[in-house]
Amino acid sequence: MALQEQALAYLDDAALVQLTRDLVQIRSINPPGDEAAVATCVAQRLTHAGMFAELVPHEEAGRASVVGGLRGSGARPALLFSGHLDTVPAGDNWEHDILAADISDGKIWGLGTTDMKAGVAAMLMAMEAIQRTGVVLQGDLLFAGTAGEEVDSMGAQRLVQQQKLSNVGFMVIGEPTTNRVFTAEKGVLWLELSTKGQTAHGSMPHLGVNAIMHMSTLLQALTAAKIPYEKHPLMGDFTMNVATITGGLKTNIVPDACRVTIDTRTVTGQDHQQILDTVRQLIDQLCATDPTFHAEVRTITERVPLDIPLDTASVQTFIRVRDQVTGQTSVPMAATYATDGSVFVPAYNAPMVICGPGLPEKAHQPNEYVDIHRLTEAARIYTLAALELLT
Ligand SMILES: [Zn+2]
Repeated sequence: MALQEQALAYLDDAALVQLTRDLVQIRSINPPGDEAAVATCVAQRLTHAGMFAELVPHEEAGRASVVGGLRGSGARPALLFSGHLDTVPAGDNWEHDILAADISDGKIWGLGTTDMKAGVAAMLMAMEAIQRTGVVLQGDLLFAGTAGEEVDSMGAQRLVQQQKLSNVGFMVIGEPTTNRVFTAEKGVLWLELSTKGQTAHGSMPHLGVNAIMHMSTLLQALTAAKIPYEKHPLMGDFTMNVATITGGLKTNIVPDACRVTIDTRTVTGQDHQQILDTVRQLIDQLCATDPTFHAEVRTITERVPLDIPLDTASVQTFIRVRDQVTGQTSVPMAATYATDGSVFVPAYNAPMVICGPGLPEKAHQPNEYVDIHRLTEAARIYTLAALELLT
């Protein structure tokens, strides 16, 4: 039997469904994260299958990432399969128990099914199938299960800092794409704006400085400022969302502080520092016209946008395998969300694709699910792609 057929024959759909359910049933909501239990489960799974595994605990209690995989001969650079282990908080309006991983209508329901424990499970099953064939790969087949992706990619950053992964030549990020191939992702720049005023009795507002009104002025100036960018063929437009606001003490007090957080999504060609400078200039202009105006801006978190050239050989190989398995023809696509690729791609100077069984439109939504046929399809894509890239 050809190696490919042999590996596919080792893929056990029922075991894959069970593994996905097992991972979903381990709570890993971020914040606070609590990924250690699910990371331990993954490490044990890798070890049990005869692969190497290392649990990488983080300083924060209850948090860990995991790396592991199969060693190759070293003739080629490593292929990295990567997925995050944390989930967002559940939110309201769920009709399913968030952690039960119920099965109905050919779907597994629960928090983190789509985003992205299904992707993690499919990657692990693909690696197990390849391990069972006994083939000696020409490069390492690595898995990185990361903590903290949903907030700031903390786990991926620590894995890079601690040099837990080396000689990475190509990576597959298993975030939800319904098994389509995304080769680009938007950047993230989260900003915090704060204004400072002075309290006064609410009946004598002229004696105070109203921080909320100053924030309103700043937000209007920012909206009118038109941050420069060039529309990207795959990523589309730069976007900005004023996301949270806090301020004020009591209805009868002039507010002396106001704080807003803003979620901007950047496209290739935009410089995050330049955006920050634009905001600072606006603040300076407002200060110049009103001596009572005090405002500051700071970066909460940022991730660079990624745009992998489509003609990259490993990308082309992955797309060919994916199209064979799905019977579809890939079209160039980008993710509007950021992934751990924003950490790994610059760190290893290696290309990536995003491809996973989850549904992007179901991520961070109530009644999240993954279609079982997408799950098993993803395992076939990963298995054949790894063999194609490493043998
Ligand atoms: Zn995700």
